[in-house]
Amino acid sequence: MMNDVTLTDDQRDFVTHFRKFATEVLVPMAEKAEAAEAYPLEIFKVMADQGYLGLAFPEKYGGSGLDHVTLSLMFEELGAISAGLTLGVYCHMVLALTPFYLFGNEDLKQRYLVPGIRGEKIGCWGITEPGAGSDLAAISTKAELKGDHYHLTGTKIFTTNGTFADYVVITAYTNKAAGMKGITLFVVDKGTPGFSVSRRIKTVGVRCSETTELSFDNVKVPKSQILGELDRGFYNALNSLTGGRIVAASFAVGIARAAMEQALSYCRQREQFGHPVIQNQGVSWAFSDMATTIDAARLLTHRAARLADAGKPHIKEASMAKLFATENASKIAAQAMQLHGGYGLTEEYPAERYYRDCKLLEIGEGTNQIHRNMIVKFL
Ligand SMILES: Cc1cc2nc3c(=O)[nH]c(=O)nc-3n(C[C@H](O)[C@H](O)[C@H](O)COP(=O)(O)OP(=O)(O)OC[C@H]3O[C@@H](n4cnc5c(N)ncnc54)[C@H](O)[C@@H]3O)c2cc1C
Repeated sequence: MMNDVTLTDDQRDFVTHFRKFATEVLVPMAEKAEAAEAYPLEIFKVMADQGYLGLAFPEKYGGSGLDHVTLSLMFEELGAISAGLTLGVYCHMVLALTPFYLFGNEDLKQRYLVPGIRGEKIGCWGITEPGAGSDLAAISTKAELKGDHYHLTGTKIFTTNGTFADYVVITAYTNKAAGMKGITLFVVDKGTPGFSVSRRIKTVGVRCSETTELSFDNVKVPKSQILGELDRGFYNALNSLTGGRIVAASFAVGIARAAMEQALSYCRQREQFGHPVIQNQGVSWAFSDMATTIDAARLLTHRAARLADAGKPHIKEASMAKLFATENASKIAAQAMQLHGGYGLTEEYPAERYYRDCKLLEIGEGTNQIHRNMIVKFL
């Protein structure tokens, strides 16, 4: 990547600096978090102090004002360290903060975006429900207007960061009869009566991230907690997610790269039949294929990021990048595990973790089937 002529000098320098920070600060943090299966909350402040948490948000709100390609580069580096660690940052920074930047009024920007970029107020994104995953409009959560307040009732599932977040951005029906034209985004603060974390959900991968179910039992919120326009929540949620897909693709490129590099180092030192196993052509070609696929995934991802930076439409390109990068990350992680032989199944090597962690990326941010549905519409 460092001799990638499609990157600017600033983007390459960014990677050099971020890798140094990651090695010194994030890698030890991730090791502890993975062992404890608990999210390291201190990550938000340390990343904020370096300007990383607000990387692509404008300086006016405390951000660093950098481009989407640099954002992708950062998420590739994060993904290579720990998917669980990356998921928590991603859900706060990309999913929870983006709608404030895109649709929030100045009051909401000051109350959530600015402290969010400083790492002082952490958010989560509650769109999925037990009966509404791919079909975002199938939600049951409703918001009833009584006087000056809305009363929210419903359940959100798979909400990452739910255990510790200071607030959640949720979708709720404000006008059920209008279907997707009757959904609104609301911000609900932790501690609001009736809002609780019902349980933490154990998952096969991303074990240091905290996946939760949230319950809303007649939660009373003022109108000022509406994020964006009334009844525009469905469209605003989808618009927020487009950028997230580019980041999810980078995240997958990072896991795939780490899985490949670690397997390569293993195959160079593991000897069978009197020589390192890498010397078998059947093994070495696997690495040529993995490296080629990873570069292709990165190029697709950066293309989508460049379109976003140019303010051009990029829904199809973001979906293509997400589909290709995440599906191939799973294939590469499986192959990397295979190349470890029996040791790949043990916790002595990270191959098993990469293998478990990849699957989420084929499912979250819109399943890959949904992205296939999306891409064909543009052909
Ligand atoms: C670890 C983890 C963290 C998550 N974090 C969050 C979070 O922070 N916030 C949040 O809101 N959500 C989160 N999610 C939820 C995630 O976005 C959903 O799981 C995802 O959108 C799929 O929804 P579902 O699980 O209900 O599957 P379903 O929509 O029920 O799909 C079931 C299967 O049917 C397929 N399918 C459905 N419809 C179609 C169709 N039209 N065409 C073809 N195939 C179809 C799907 O691809 C899938 O294979 C998280 C999930 C996990 C596992």
